[in-house]
Amino acid sequence: MTNRNIPINFEFFPPKTEAGQAKLVAVANVLADEQPEFFSVTYGAGGSTRDGMRRTVLQLNNEVGVPAAPHLSCVGDSREDLRTLLNDYRAQGIQRIVALRGDLPSGMGHASGELRYANELVEFIRAETGDHFKLEVAAYPESHPQAPNFETDLQNFIRKARAGADSAITQYFFNADCYFHFVDRVRQAGIDIPIIPGIMPITNYTKLARFSDACGAEIPRWIRKQLEAYGDDSDSISAFGTEVISQLCERLLDGGAPGLHFYTLNQAEPSLAVVRNLQGDR
Ligand code: FAD
Repeated sequence: MTNRNIPINFEFFPPKTEAGQAKLVAVANVLADEQPEFFSVTYGAGGSTRDGMRRTVLQLNNEVGVPAAPHLSCVGDSREDLRTLLNDYRAQGIQRIVALRGDLPSGMGHASGELRYANELVEFIRAETGDHFKLEVAAYPESHPQAPNFETDLQNFIRKARAGADSAITQYFFNADCYFHFVDRVRQAGIDIPIIPGIMPITNYTKLARFSDACGAEIPRWIRKQLEAYGDDSDSISAFGTEVISQLCERLLDGGAPGLHFYTLNQAEPSLAVVRNLQGDR
């Protein structure tokens, strides 16, 4: 938590190797000191990371001791697959799920899932497990990349919230105004679930640019130009990135954001540097 008692969460992806798993547990132990509300673990749509993910979720939950929330996507899984996973997680004491449509990895062909959109997954989870799980859904202040326009995407988000989501986590963004605009529009529709900004620390320009293109997050020109100018100077990129992201978080919290969700990419330092800045400033 930051000094203002703002809830924070950290997101990880399931490592592919034993060494990666050990490193993740070490990273999670460091981040656990910040008393996060939960750790979340991403899901490879179509079950591509299912076993590794289950192991990571249970290890974070049971050994590191922070409540872990598996991401669950429906695009490549049958109802029966999803039912099995839900029952397993419930039996293991998991209490929160990030419910998503997901994206199939390239090369995996067409979606084979029986549920087409996240609102259908939320309905399914509620029908199967009642109120057992706290359900998070994804939100896109800059619009989902496949949405035809902002209004349609907003209505689809509202549909997801009405289906029974408890809370939302946004795609990352670098412009606080898009978050405030999105939240205002959701509130105007009478939806009052918390919308937690997703925060992407800046550590590597090439990867960030590629990822941002794919997920529809805009990197403002002034940030792009500065990062390009640093080239391979990773110390300068990290210092600048920490400053930019800390200021973004400050603005979001000052404007009423109810918490922060860090996309850690399985590293402690970049998120921690921002959290420390927030603690120092408050
Ligand atoms: P949806 O809410 O279903 O929306 C997808 C698209 O369909 C949008 O364009 C929307 O406008 C439209 N739509 C929604 N409902 C309807 C409807 N009923 N009728 C018509 N159109 C509709 N991906 C992974 O594969 N694994 C992960 O672990 C993962 N974690 C994520 C965590 C967060 C916090 C976020 C923000 C994203 C994550 N993603 C993950 C990416 C996500 O799966 C993709 O962005 C995916 O394309 C959309 O998922 P969604 O749940 O937002 O879909």
